[in-house]
Amino acid sequence: MNIDKKALALANGRPHYARKRFGQNFLHDENVIRKIVDAISAVEGDHLLEIGPGLGALTKELAKTGATIHCVELDADLAKSLRTEFQEYDSIKIIEGDALKFDLSSIATEKRPLRVIGNLPYNISTPIIFHLLKNSELIRDMTFMLQLEVIQRMVSKVGKRNYGRLSLMVQYYCEVEHLFNVASSAFSPKPKVVSALARLKPHNSTSIRAKDSDCLQTVIRTAFNQRRKTLRNSLRTIIPEALLDRIAINKNLRPQDITLNEYVEISNAICNHTAGPEDYETK
Ligand code: SAM
Repeated sequence: MNIDKKALALANGRPHYARKRFGQNFLHDENVIRKIVDAISAVEGDHLLEIGPGLGALTKELAKTGATIHCVELDADLAKSLRTEFQEYDSIKIIEGDALKFDLSSIATEKRPLRVIGNLPYNISTPIIFHLLKNSELIRDMTFMLQLEVIQRMVSKVGKRNYGRLSLMVQYYCEVEHLFNVASSAFSPKPKVVSALARLKPHNSTSIRAKDSDCLQTVIRTAFNQRRKTLRNSLRTIIPEALLDRIAINKNLRPQDITLNEYVEISNAICNHTAGPEDYETK
């Protein structure tokens, strides 16, 4: 079985062995936990959604603020133990489930109430972020522990080596800030990668908007599928050359040299011309 040898204690006193398949690296360093909780700076009246509370290292501290916290935990044993641990708290709700399938509108209906937090399972951190971004209008901010390398890709700017689909889509929806790095010794078991905390704040409505965000995703994905080709060649399957030529962009550049605004322009040109990029895909 894929388990770490060191047992950790559950609320009911039973031992728990970190499960690799769930990306379990539990925080145990109290100074680091305090620093993360300070960075979140929750207050009474806030509505938090914690992804993967695990053994409750962050939840315990955040509970003291009086904020309402919905916790989504995939591991049934951990969810059960957390329910026992927080049974006295009306403000804390433990949901056993998959964050990748979790419907944010089931806990929030007005605009921008949710503050999403978590020391995310690194194996699925990017899909979780993409899933949350589908409901970005319900989110005030997100504070996540991630692999440093993922944060570096999220904040990367046009022309840089690690600029790509993640940088563009995250920056399309959010302002991203790398807060601080966290040593592997703060976790049990220790992850093999460097970790860091990041804050993502969804833009307000005045920011640049694509007519169709699915179309924008398709354009960006298609361009970066063939990173070394020029834009003219990489987008050939989704936009006719004549249409691309009408846009004031140098088509001989490679995908990593095109700004977000330019990708939005290409996507909008496709939208204005047809129902979507799939109309061109087989031509
Ligand atoms: N928050 C705890 C901490 O900081 O010590 C645990 C963090 S651990 C890196 C990731 C947590 O996410 C684990 O508790 C794991 O079981 C949970 N998890 C993994 N996949 C998940 C999913 N798809 N949905 C919800 N929780 C998940």
